[in-house]
Amino acid sequence: MIHFNIPPYLGNEIENIKKAIENKKICGDGEFTKKCNKWLEEKTGTPKALLTTSCTHATEMAALLCDIAPGDEVIMPSYTFVSTADAFVLRGAKVVFVDIRPDTMNIDETLIENAITDKTKAIVPVHYAGVACEMDTIMEVAEKYHLAVIEDAAQGIMCTYKGMPLGTIGDYGCYSFHETKNYSMGEGGALLIKNEEKIEEAEILREKGTNRSKFFRGQIDKYTWVNFGSSYLPSDMNAAYLYTQLEEADKINNDRLKTWSHYKEGLSDLQNRGIIELPFVPDGCVHNAHMFYVKAKDLEERTRLIEFLKENGIQAVFHYIPLHTAPAGIKYGVFRGEDRYTTKESERLLRLPMYYGLKEDETEYVIDKIKEFYR
Ligand SMILES: *Cc1c(COP(=O)(O)O)cnc(C)c1O
Repeated sequence: MIHFNIPPYLGNEIENIKKAIENKKICGDGEFTKKCNKWLEEKTGTPKALLTTSCTHATEMAALLCDIAPGDEVIMPSYTFVSTADAFVLRGAKVVFVDIRPDTMNIDETLIENAITDKTKAIVPVHYAGVACEMDTIMEVAEKYHLAVIEDAAQGIMCTYKGMPLGTIGDYGCYSFHETKNYSMGEGGALLIKNEEKIEEAEILREKGTNRSKFFRGQIDKYTWVNFGSSYLPSDMNAAYLYTQLEEADKINNDRLKTWSHYKEGLSDLQNRGIIELPFVPDGCVHNAHMFYVKAKDLEERTRLIEFLKENGIQAVFHYIPLHTAPAGIKYGVFRGEDRYTTKESERLLRLPMYYGLKEDETEYVIDKIKEFYR
C-alpha cells in the first residue's frame, strides 16, 4: 500500500525532545521554540517569526492584529482550506470569495479589484501547493485601497516569489507544521510579522494578553495583564521535533523535489497528448514540492481514477470542496464575480502520494498505474 502521506520523520527527533525534557522546560518559548523562531527569521529575512500552535491560530492572530471587526470584508479564494476563512469569520467578518486561475489554482489576481467595497479590510492570498500567487499585482491593489495582506503560506515554506520568501511579502505570513506539511511538529504553525511596530502586540496576544515575553528578556521587572489575548504558543517538545527537521530542511526539500520531478517527467507524455493536466510553476516562482496533482477530464473520470488507484494499493485523494458551496460558506461568505474555474477545476484535481522518503520505485509504480488507467 502506498500511503498518500506519511508525516515527516528523520529518526533523531527523539534526541531533541529528550533535550527539551532535560532542560526542565517543556512549555512554550523554551530552547527549541526560540531556535525555530530564529531559524525562520534567518531563512526568510522576516523581522519576527513566532511559533504558534497551528497555522489556523497564526491566521487568527493576524486577523486580530489587523483589527478585523464585524461587518468587515476579507477577500480570498474559495478553493482553500477552511482555516483561511475561519480566522476572519471568528472576528465577525464576511468572507468574499473570488475565482481562481486554472493554471496554478491560486486566486485570480485580476479579479480582486472588482470585489473590493468600502468595507474591504484585507486580502488573503493562498499559495497553493507552495506555488506563489501573483504578489506584485496583489500588493499593488492592496496599497491602492489601503488593505492588509495576510499570506496563507501554510504550504509555502522554502518557496519564493521573485526571490522573496512566501510569507514575507504581505503584512503577515502564516506557516503550517501540521503532519501533512513538508516540516512538522504534529500540530503547529508560525506567524511572520513584517512591521516591527506590531511585534510587541503580537507577543502579548500570543501570551494570554501579558507582557511575559518582555519580562523574560529582562526588559521589565514584572509581568502583568496588559491586553486581550489567548494562548498561541506550542509546547517546546513539539518545537524540538520540528527543529530537528528545520536543521535538515534542504535534505527534506530535495527529496520531495526529486519525487515531484519524477512524477512530472513520467506523466508528461499524457499531458502532451492532452489527456491530463499537470502542475504549472510560473517563471519567478520557486516551489517546495508540497504536492503533486493531476487533473482528470472531469469529476466522473477522477472518481474512476481514484478507485482504480485504490484497487492497486495507491492512496490518492482530492480536497477542497469550494468553501462558497459549504453550509458555513453560504452563511458567512459570498462569491463575487463568476465561478468559472473554482468548482470545475476543483472537481478534476487529484493529489498523488507525496512525502519525504517516498521511494523511486513507488513513484514509478504510481506513474505506471496512471498510464495503465488511460490505456
Ligand atoms: C494546512 C493548511 C492550513 C491549516 O494549517 P493548520 O496548521 O492545520 O492549522 C491552512 N491553510 C492551508 C492552505 C493549509 O494547507
